[in-house]
Amino acid sequence: MTDRWERIRGGLYGLLVGDALGVPYEFSPPAAIPAHDLIEMSPPAGFVRAHPAVPVGTWSDDGAQALVLLNSLVKDSSLNLKQFTEGLLAWYRTGYMTPDEHVFDVGIQTMHALENYARNGNPLTCSPSDEWNNGNGSLMRTLPCAFVLASSPTDVIARAKHQSMPTHAHLRSQLACALYSLMAWRMVDGDSPVDALDYAQDALEGTVHQSERHELSILLDGRLEPSQGSGYVVDSLWSAIRCVLATSNYEDCLRSAIALGNDTDTTACIAGGLAGIFYGERGIPDRWKRALNGRVIVEDLLSRLARIQAEN
Ligand SMILES: [Mg+2]
Repeated sequence: MTDRWERIRGGLYGLLVGDALGVPYEFSPPAAIPAHDLIEMSPPAGFVRAHPAVPVGTWSDDGAQALVLLNSLVKDSSLNLKQFTEGLLAWYRTGYMTPDEHVFDVGIQTMHALENYARNGNPLTCSPSDEWNNGNGSLMRTLPCAFVLASSPTDVIARAKHQSMPTHAHLRSQLACALYSLMAWRMVDGDSPVDALDYAQDALEGTVHQSERHELSILLDGRLEPSQGSGYVVDSLWSAIRCVLATSNYEDCLRSAIALGNDTDTTACIAGGLAGIFYGERGIPDRWKRALNGRVIVEDLLSRLARIQAEN
């Protein structure tokens, strides 16, 4: 296995394991999260878990939508937005790309956007796009934009912004997806998280249109705010990136993401994608990977991605 491919596998499994690991802790305030070493796929006895009916090791909306995106990018690396949005709708309605065809976690904004899409059929106009519509629902799924071959950072930026449109069309969300995808793209090629983040910020600052500068500065200023692990896209991005920068292995990174409380599955999914790339598939604890349901779906997508990459 090449190093690059090990990092891609690590990124996808890192995202899915992070999501599944965070599901039982979702909505808990940080004070209610178990001690660092006790954060596992099965929370300790006595912990009141979110989604108690969901089997341990099941990814949620984050993982499912990332797989829908990867599937679309495998079919067409330039991303057919209509086909992608149909995939999101199939997830919402029938549990497409879930381990057991059961949807248990739907963001309010995403639900409104997909219901609009079901009525108007236009992936460019179905999303709410006020400033308040900047949840982390498109950031959590954008990672596969870093896996398909791109000839320039501009390609990665365009792809990441584009995939945000059907549910999170506000520019702030689009730019958050672009920053994260650029960082991941460089890390897939072997950059450290610090270097990749520097590169991503420089690349965005060097390419955004004048009219986008205000929103980019709001996004980048988020780096100065304390981590809250919330659902707001700016806080979510930096909460996750800080966990990657402040830890030295996958396990500690994910546990520190979940320790922030609140939107634990998504913070851990976003951090887990980057940490999985950096430490590779081998860096993900075996017991967490073995506990993940639906691995057949993941392996099928990875083998199709591998075939395409071998042809290019
Ligand atoms: Mg979720």
